Amino acid sequence: MRKLYRSSGFWSLLLFSLAGLLLHPLWAPLSSTLSLSGSSPVGFTSPEGVSYLASNSSGPAAWECGAKIGVGFNPGPLSGSAATLLRNDLHSVLAELSSVSGLTLAFVGDTDEVPDSRWSKEWAARAPGMPVVVAVIPKSASDLAIVDAAASGGGFVKSDFFGRLRVSSGFVLLHAENFHDYRPGSGFMSHQALLLHELMHVLNVAHSEDPTSIMTPSLADSYGRLGSSDLAALDSLSTSACS
Ligand SMILES: [Zn+2]
Repeated sequence: MRKLYRSSGFWSLLLFSLAGLLLHPLWAPLSSTLSLSGSSPVGFTSPEGVSYLASNSSGPAAWECGAKIGVGFNPGPLSGSAATLLRNDLHSVLAELSSVSGLTLAFVGDTDEVPDSRWSKEWAARAPGMPVVVAVIPKSASDLAIVDAAASGGGFVKSDFFGRLRVSSGFVLLHAENFHDYRPGSGFMSHQALLLHELMHVLNVAHSEDPTSIMTPSLADSYGRLGSSDLAALDSLSTSACS
């Protein structure tokens, strides 16, 4: 668990950008970046097994207890039929995560928004009904894309009145260059597995070495479905948010 640096402003937007799925299953190191709004980025390399990237004395950053989280979808360069397949997979994953997280993740429609670090600082206020965007993009389109990854996911954290960290917006970037390495549907190396993994990062669940977890640093090392340790991580976040 890592302490966050606090900015001087009472309300601070903090970025946690998590390494996505690594293309090469043998490429073990996991890199993550953390930066503060209005100051120089603070980078670090997350050790394996870190429980949460963002935490303070009041516990890990979580979405508000029972939050309703609207999710937008940017199909980018996908053809109409490919976009439809991915949209359907996104619906399935949002339903699954809603059933196990204590949160409500709901599809709210298509968007042309492309999340980047500038976007992050204003998005939650600008579009409160769609705090999360899932976008298919070329890696060059966003500074949140991770060169060695097939996808990336993360969120932005705000300190509330009581000094508790709360996730206020999030993003999933599916890198168009690698998208076709995954197949539509569920299970091993599937689009649903990819979305599940990255959306778990949006909920502030970090990587796990548990092979039954969806959160293995490389998706090729996972069965492609939620495991008991994933459910425990979600339960821990829910307990923290709701207590
Ligand atoms: Zn990841």
